[in-house]
Formats: sequence, structure tokens, C-alpha cells
Amino acid sequence: MKKADLSCDLCMLPVVADDYHIRTAEGEKHFCCEGCLGIFKLLDGIEDAPLSPSFETENNRGEKS
Ligand SMILES: [Zn+2]
Repeated sequence: MKKADLSCDLCMLPVVADDYHIRTAEGEKHFCCEGCLGIFKLLDGIEDAPLSPSFETENNRGEKS
């Protein structure tokens, strides 16, 4: 389960641990830290997203396949 070449969608730093990600209308976004995730949500106006993005991603992955 290796994920390579992920970079933060906010600050463009490499994402070493894929712990901070959310699904948006544009697709899945990955962040290097909780701070970047929070800022992105504010900027993108999706403050109503669930507080547990990792859990949601797991569910969506199951539906997709
Ligand atoms: Zn970042």
C-alpha cells in the first residue's frame, strides 16, 4: 500500500504520511498537516465537512470499487 509523489494541495510540501485528506467536488485532496487541511477547508468553503476525513475516505473507497 505505498503512496508515492503526494504533495500538499496547499503548501506543496511532500506528504509523507497520508493522514490528512478530504474528498471535494474536484476529487481527493492531500495535505501535509492538519493546519493545511483546516486552511484549505476554510478557503474552499466546505466547513461542513465531517471532522473525520480519514474515516470518510475509507468509506468512499469501498463504494467506488
Ligand atoms: Zn501543507
